Amino acid sequence: MASKTYEQFIAYNQEARLLHGIQSLLDWDQETYMPKRGADTRARHLSLVAGLMHERRSSDELGNMIATLEKEAPEDPVEAADLRVARRDFDRAVKLPTDLVKRIAEAQSRGKTAWIEARAESDFSKFAPHLQTLMDLRREMADKLGWTTEPYDALMDEYEPGAKAAEVQAVFDALRPELVALVQATQDAPRQPDLSILKRSCPVELQKTFNEQIARAIGFDFDAGRIDISVHPFCTETSMNDVRLTTRYDEHYMPMSLFGIMHEAGHGMYEQGLPSERFGSPACASVSLGIHESQSRLWENQVGRSRPFWERFYGDLQKTFTSLADVSLDDWYFAINNVRPSLIRVEADEVTYGLHIMLRFDLERQMMQGKLAVADVPQAWNDAMQSGLGVTPPNDREGCLQDVHWSLGIFGYFPTYQLGNIFAAQFFDKARQDLGNLDDQIRRGEFAPLLGWLRENIHVHGRRFDSNELVERVTGNKVSHEPYVAALNAKFKPLYGLA
Ligand code: ZN
Repeated sequence: MASKTYEQFIAYNQEARLLHGIQSLLDWDQETYMPKRGADTRARHLSLVAGLMHERRSSDELGNMIATLEKEAPEDPVEAADLRVARRDFDRAVKLPTDLVKRIAEAQSRGKTAWIEARAESDFSKFAPHLQTLMDLRREMADKLGWTTEPYDALMDEYEPGAKAAEVQAVFDALRPELVALVQATQDAPRQPDLSILKRSCPVELQKTFNEQIARAIGFDFDAGRIDISVHPFCTETSMNDVRLTTRYDEHYMPMSLFGIMHEAGHGMYEQGLPSERFGSPACASVSLGIHESQSRLWENQVGRSRPFWERFYGDLQKTFTSLADVSLDDWYFAINNVRPSLIRVEADEVTYGLHIMLRFDLERQMMQGKLAVADVPQAWNDAMQSGLGVTPPNDREGCLQDVHWSLGIFGYFPTYQLGNIFAAQFFDKARQDLGNLDDQIRRGEFAPLLGWLRENIHVHGRRFDSNELVERVTGNKVSHEPYVAALNAKFKPLYGLA
């Protein structure tokens, strides 16, 4: 039986969660429908809500409730998890002076504006002073939060609680040679995909219809969600019953919206799968960005880019897009699984993607340690692209200015993308063991068993376990790059005739 303090504590947290939903909806509207001249007022809306949220998250009232509950020491594991994550969030929030939070918000706003201009003109020097300011502020933030080995740990902890840069480094070090070898082998292979078929005309209206069909088929609930258009695809939510996905369309590159929607629907189904009766409880949220990304990657790559999936849906695809009528299933399957070193992370294939992430992880860690000066970033970026991927960006727009993250001073976020790929492979292997013939289920278009497995093993727990604990609990194994490497080799070697 929950104590009175626990009930008050949950009610208090629910209001914070409602504010978070309001913030999400304002953000979503800004990226989808807001008219241009709404920007100024919207910045004020968002700053007001952010202030209210920070006040609630760092208030004495909350601190006192947490302290009282800690004395009561609830035995119920769900209540104990609520208390543990609330303590973690509260301690982080109170360590950050409001003044620093405000200075960061302002530097982010200026940084993003400068970055947009610098990127358009491919002129790093216009962004450099802002990057310096943001780096200094994040360094200050890391010091306030506290760290033992290196400041990067304190920043990464916001996105992947408990993760340490040195541990991530060890995983990446083991992974890198495997990826490099597979990239090399595919580039040298005599069999190569015909990529021109991906550029055939597919009317945008038909893409929208087909994407919805696919999202619905895999289990995204349209009574608790919707799809709209934005420049950069994302998934956000006001609750598990209102999840917003976005994508973007190109008539001459249909896979962008299709796999984009499978990716975002993977994020969305995670949010829809959190227990609604626990809405607003501190532990009723996603574990980390890495676990979130494992859900999107699993549906996008392990399911969406698999051959069984297209054995079920390729006929439907050809009926919808008549331009593909003469393309065989084998050629389509090979084309959507092409491997090719390229300049842009968000357009990278499954194999080279990790190398883009490792480059960013290395550089931002060096920046945080004071080993890489801002002025040297473009050269360091280009050198790393050449040695890691064998390509050199012709300009900074396609090099170190391509991603939005640094314009907001977000350091420690990139590695979570690759951790997501690694977690996804471990989860998918275990689902395969537990569910019997998963390939046959996918071939028949039956996704309920897989989604049910993810709900039961991952979604329903919310933040009760951190990512390392969750992986170990679900799979029986520690976090390892090996299932990921094995899955990549098993898929790409036969495709390229290397088996
Ligand atoms: Zn994602």
